[in-house]
Amino acid sequence: MTLDPRKLHPESLMMSHGYDPFLSEGAAKPPIFMTSTFVFRKAEEGEKFFRWAYGLEERGRDQSMGLIYSRLNNPSLQILEERLSLWDGAEAALSFASGMAAISTMALATLAPGDVLLYSMPVYGGTEFFFEKILPRFGIVTKAFPMDLPAAELESLARGYGDKLAMFYLESPANPTNVLIDIAAVAALARKLSSARPVRTAVDNTFLGPVFQNPLALGADLVLYSATKFIGGHSDVIAGAVTGPKSLVDPISVYRTMLGTVPDPFTCWLLLRSLETVKVRMEAQAKSAERIARALAENPRVEKVYYPALLEPGTSQRAIYDRQCTGPGSIISFEVRGGKAAAFAFLDSVALCKLAVSLGGTESLVEHPATMTHSDVPPEIQARFGITEKMIRLSVGMENADDLIADLRQALEASAR
Ligand SMILES: *Cc1c(COP(=O)(O)O)cnc(C)c1O
Repeated sequence: MTLDPRKLHPESLMMSHGYDPFLSEGAAKPPIFMTSTFVFRKAEEGEKFFRWAYGLEERGRDQSMGLIYSRLNNPSLQILEERLSLWDGAEAALSFASGMAAISTMALATLAPGDVLLYSMPVYGGTEFFFEKILPRFGIVTKAFPMDLPAAELESLARGYGDKLAMFYLESPANPTNVLIDIAAVAALARKLSSARPVRTAVDNTFLGPVFQNPLALGADLVLYSATKFIGGHSDVIAGAVTGPKSLVDPISVYRTMLGTVPDPFTCWLLLRSLETVKVRMEAQAKSAERIARALAENPRVEKVYYPALLEPGTSQRAIYDRQCTGPGSIISFEVRGGKAAAFAFLDSVALCKLAVSLGGTESLVEHPATMTHSDVPPEIQARFGITEKMIRLSVGMENADDLIADLRQALEASAR
């Protein structure tokens, strides 16, 4: 290659980066390396690889590490991670068996007993369960703060924990209301509070990344993904990812090996296929979503639409959106006139959209957050974060936008009967 890969756009490199066809019989596409273990040429080579893998010996500059066993590494995994890192401009990326595997492995590798983790509310239900019910069993103190907490109050809350504070964990936009938190402001606060020990900022970038939001560029230290959603994009795989600097990602990699939270080679291969189209998919889905959100806002059966592109100019949310995001994404929440019965009638009437949880795939999905994805959130907390019984969450897929608008319109009409 005569072009400098660092000067090319990620989408230009998704078909080539990190893979040499001539190491695989000239296959244009990387094979799926369906193997649990790798053959050593000589016993001495096996000994050397293990000494390097377990850190018993420093590897020389001219010496290259070989493959040992697929819980440690595999070519399908390695190619995927090299390509994943390009999107966030990250030094390193790790892939995982699920988004929850990425989040839990990152937390266990980065936090120690006595450490304090402050996280924005609302976050993904599995994340909240892990932070509230599991991390405290290992002596890690976790505390939620509302996304709209004024900056000065967040700072005084954080200062109250002194040098025990280890991490801010953010998710933006929030699910299902698309509320935004100022990632750059929290990352700046984390740096300000880093004295004897560093305070890290980790961001779940599942909703807008890797195309419309780059937390590393905003000052965050680590980025997490449920690759099940937009990165996978076809609703046929469960996977996760972490990106960031090598110094923070390498220790997470050790925990991944020991916890066994690696993805299998076929999952990695599916994600490689998906990464070739992630930009066009997300852009096409966002373009449709913007039209659909406007059509919903004009529909008399709809009371309210939550979608970043519809944020009022002059509001603080709009200012965060303009600074932080390069596109609105394709998750829309809206309230149907007539409460839960109308919302259910709507869900039972869609013909092109499917009634299912999850998001970010090629097919449009609708669900009812209050009784499905967010049903374990107590009613008073649901009310606090605007999750109502009349709310529908829509993930816009790759179907024709006019067809989707027609489907939503007829289902809304049915919801009135
Ligand atoms: C789905 C999701 C997760 C969990 O990912 P899995 O791949 O289902 O484990 C985490 N965070 C967000 C924002 C999600 O939407």
